[in-house]
Amino acid sequence: MHIAMIGTGYVGLVSGACFADFGHQVTCVDKDEGKIAALLRGEIPIFEPGLDVLVATNVKAGRLKFTTDLTAPVAEADAVFIAVGTPSRRGDGHADLSYVYAAAREIAAVVQGFTVVITKSTVPVGTGDEVERLIREANPSADVAVASNPEFLREGAAIRDFKFPDRIVVGTMDERARKVLGDIYRPLSLNQAPLMFTGRRTAEMIKYAANAFLATKITFINEIADLSEKVGANVQEVARGIGLDNRIGTKFLHAGPGFGGSCFPKDTKALVKIALDHDVHLRIVEAVLAVNDNRKRAMARKVSSAYGGSLRGKTVAVLGLTFKPDTDDMRDAPSIPLVTGLLDMGAKVRAHDPVGMEMARRELPDIEYSDDPYLCARGADALVVVTEWAQYRALDLERLKNELAHPVVVDLRNVYRPEDMAAHGFIYDSIGRPPEA
Ligand code: NAD
Repeated sequence: MHIAMIGTGYVGLVSGACFADFGHQVTCVDKDEGKIAALLRGEIPIFEPGLDVLVATNVKAGRLKFTTDLTAPVAEADAVFIAVGTPSRRGDGHADLSYVYAAAREIAAVVQGFTVVITKSTVPVGTGDEVERLIREANPSADVAVASNPEFLREGAAIRDFKFPDRIVVGTMDERARKVLGDIYRPLSLNQAPLMFTGRRTAEMIKYAANAFLATKITFINEIADLSEKVGANVQEVARGIGLDNRIGTKFLHAGPGFGGSCFPKDTKALVKIALDHDVHLRIVEAVLAVNDNRKRAMARKVSSAYGGSLRGKTVAVLGLTFKPDTDDMRDAPSIPLVTGLLDMGAKVRAHDPVGMEMARRELPDIEYSDDPYLCARGADALVVVTEWAQYRALDLERLKNELAHPVVVDLRNVYRPEDMAAHGFIYDSIGRPPEA
């Protein structure tokens, strides 16, 4: 199969490299000349574990190419995937589809022979219809089928998720398109991944419903954490106690500072907007959004109350900036409202992140950055763990305490055990756990 991947970001690059690894001929296209130039030099523009090796192997094998010009790869492709961004539209929270539609028009101008055009980007229900209309309008003789194939990978575990998915959803009623997509994903049938064929609109809906459900699960346990704090229960044990019930499941039940990242915030917002356009109130999802927004803002207050007073003029050390470990992605990271909240309180902020500091500097230019977690803690009046990078789990607690001017630790990911922290003499606060439970 010849595949063109339009958009070489977190999803496009991982999907393109994995398809090449399955044995397909893949060309990843991106408008960002810097990104393509880096890839042509053998550099990976994002941090994703294992991606460097996967890309290098498949480039070397001649199965994976990069370009800024979609003409040739689209012309020879059996399948063209659209994996461009669909960020929140400024002002109203709708998904901004301008990149998807621009890509559709560009594809229409150069497509040749029967080609399946597939939206991998997360798009509102009905976008496939519009992509098809745009292509037919721009090129009435084009022989295309437009399908939806939403992506469920998680940054930080993207290659594994792509190669061992729980399911693959393909939305199309076109027999030829089903055959092409069946062939593209055939290598995965060895892993017994169910390939689920649905209508196009259903596939588009599945992606938003999945993300909204996961965001709801996180928000639910966050509220239970708040209550646990008040009543002296331990939310980690509550999560385990309910999660071991197969009907509930243990995943996405980790209480924390509120969900962030490149998908959940924008996709839940977009789903609420899609629903309103159809006169439907998704009140649960609306509540999830409101609760989550309040929660992220409340985290700075949690730090000042752990410190026990005003943070004006005090230094707060922040460990972890990316929205989760094993990625450099800072989009909608909970660290952003936390840090801005601390700055608003008059605190000075010094931060460390193993890989995200370059990206973070763009979002948070007014703070100090430190290359080492202990240096970050040095002389600080309080320390906050925001992202649960593995290296923070193994910090030398004695050394950490000696670095801090005041031994206040606020652990927004429940990385440490309250009893260990108490034994080391920290003033310790975490999420949904009694101080010394
Ligand atoms: P991204 O911003 O990392 O990458 C998008 C890329 O598309 C950018 O490099 C941009 O330059 C390029 N682009 C935009 N218009 C283009 C055009 N006309 N031609 C060529 N390139 C173009 O975005 P992402 O995180 O990879 O997300 C892509 C889509 O996948 C979004 O809809 C997102 O919601 C969805 N998604 C993301 C994830 C995730 O974990 N990041 C997971 C599942 C689904």
